Amino acid sequence: MPRPALSVVIPCYNEEATLPLLHARVAAAARGVVGDDHEIVLVNDGSRDDSWRVMQMLAAADPRVVAVNLSRNHGHQLALTAGLDLCAGEQILIIDADLQDPPELVAEMRATMSREQADVVYAVRRKREGETLFKKATAAAFYRVLDRVTDTPIPLDTGDFRLMTRRALDALLSLPEQARFIRGMVAWVGFRQVPFPYDRAERHAGETNYPLGKMVRLALDAVTGFSTAPLRWASHLSVMLAGCSVLLLFYIAYGYFSGARVQGWTSTMLVVVVLSAIQMFVLGMIGEYLGRLYIESKRRPLYLVADIAGTAHGRATLGFQAEATRIPDDQVASAALAE
Ligand code: UDP
Ligand code: MG
Repeated sequence: MPRPALSVVIPCYNEEATLPLLHARVAAAARGVVGDDHEIVLVNDGSRDDSWRVMQMLAAADPRVVAVNLSRNHGHQLALTAGLDLCAGEQILIIDADLQDPPELVAEMRATMSREQADVVYAVRRKREGETLFKKATAAAFYRVLDRVTDTPIPLDTGDFRLMTRRALDALLSLPEQARFIRGMVAWVGFRQVPFPYDRAERHAGETNYPLGKMVRLALDAVTGFSTAPLRWASHLSVMLAGCSVLLLFYIAYGYFSGARVQGWTSTMLVVVVLSAIQMFVLGMIGEYLGRLYIESKRRPLYLVADIAGTAHGRATLGFQAEATRIPDDQVASAALAE
């Protein structure tokens, strides 16, 4: 089956009020650039309203709609993953269901993609309409902290709104981790990625599904998924503590020799100070190992091939490459037995 030229992937949670207009605008925008050669993948992320029924109606009326119903609310990033796994297009547009990201921009994004020979065109928010000061401030702070602690440069003020080529998507889908921070993972994948500034609109209807708790969880996934810096902080702390305890040792010795002391104070302090320094040091060491183990246990492919010249089987070979860098499960099991 030939791939459609464009897939639009949309995770939806309690969006019944927006879905009909969303479909109309996305379908019109897609038709404007590729005619009928597109698909619209709607993922229902366990909505508690009538979203699923509306989606079924849309799918019945428009053969280009693929509606997917998840078993429960899995969260935005996993719903998006499900949609990306299932879509078949040569180009993939990721978009929010609430019409904060104008689907009409797809035409310009496609133009940018072909002009820049890019694999990813990611939308960068210039303005955010109708969002609270708190949301804007936490989002701004989050992206800046993330940028400082992570080793993968993740573009600032960028959501999941982006246009990707099939090979960039396939590379993204080869990352097997459970805790998914998709905009960071796309950045990690590499290839040529170019920004696309736009003004973020207000929500069409309903309210944000990202309350503080979900934002914090996403932030933690982002930091732990792309950096082991927090683990390293323990060993830095231990070095500082070791310095402090040397100073304290002088003070304790002074107390001992000057005789100005309470009985038993010297030994108690010695034990507390020395032991806590050692404990911190050991924790830091464990942190270093745990961090590496954590990175390993993700089993990301070691590298990704961007181009292969002169074969007609480029796609198949690339797929094989991604598979080959992963260790098959039975091999891990037998290696464990051999030890
Ligand atoms: N969403 C989802 N599952 C969730 C929460 C959100 O699929 O558990 C979808 C939601 O329908 C929307 C997108 O993720 O299409 C972004 O969510 P929202 O607009 O609430 O976030 P905000 O724009 O406020 O950051
Ligand atoms: Mg939104």
